[in-house]
Amino acid sequence: MESVVEAIIVPCPNAKHGCTEKFSYGKEIAHKKECSFALCYCPTPNCKYSGDKDLYSHYYANHKDEELWNCFVCGRSSGAWIPTREKILILQESSDGPLVVLQCFNEPQGMYVTVNCLAPCAPGVGRFSYHLSYTFGDATMTFALEEMNRIQKVSLETPEKDFMLVPYYIVGQKVRLKMVICIRRLEEEKEVDEDEDEDEAEEE
Ligand SMILES: [Zn+2]
Ligand SMILES: [Zn+2]
Repeated sequence: MESVVEAIIVPCPNAKHGCTEKFSYGKEIAHKKECSFALCYCPTPNCKYSGDKDLYSHYYANHKDEELWNCFVCGRSSGAWIPTREKILILQESSDGPLVVLQCFNEPQGMYVTVNCLAPCAPGVGRFSYHLSYTFGDATMTFALEEMNRIQKVSLETPEKDFMLVPYYIVGQKVRLKMVICIRRLEEEKEVDEDEDEDEAEEE
């Protein structure tokens, strides 16, 4: 019976979106995290929309008038005020541009602030660095990441890494966490993935 189980080949969970990868039973879970056909989910609470790059135009068309939306310009510092009640702020570069999600989490030590790009896993899509800062009186705290993490869905779970901690004595009883952010687009790399070499080798 065991050999029967091993022989089962399952398609990628994103097969209906165009992924042609197939796996022996159980192996598809690891692939799912890096599948470039994975859909992105609208970050607006209560909106059930999902899509690939068309999520960006969906967002702009349907949610840009909402309070949680703001725009950003690459390479320029701008205010990103996260409402401490909703705990989320969405930044968008253009009507079909990428979405950057800022979130804050109430933790015992203070507020955790995260910045993620909502983008598919495909190489070259949504690659940014960011620099985050928070000023209180004469003090400024900063946090920067050379490459912004990419997510396909907003998670409400407390992050384990890549967050900025703003202690409560600095936050106080504020309605908005007044962050300043500078987002930069990473240089597009000329070379595609090195894994693609296999195809060329066959032609010799
Ligand atoms: Zn896949
Ligand atoms: Zn939506």
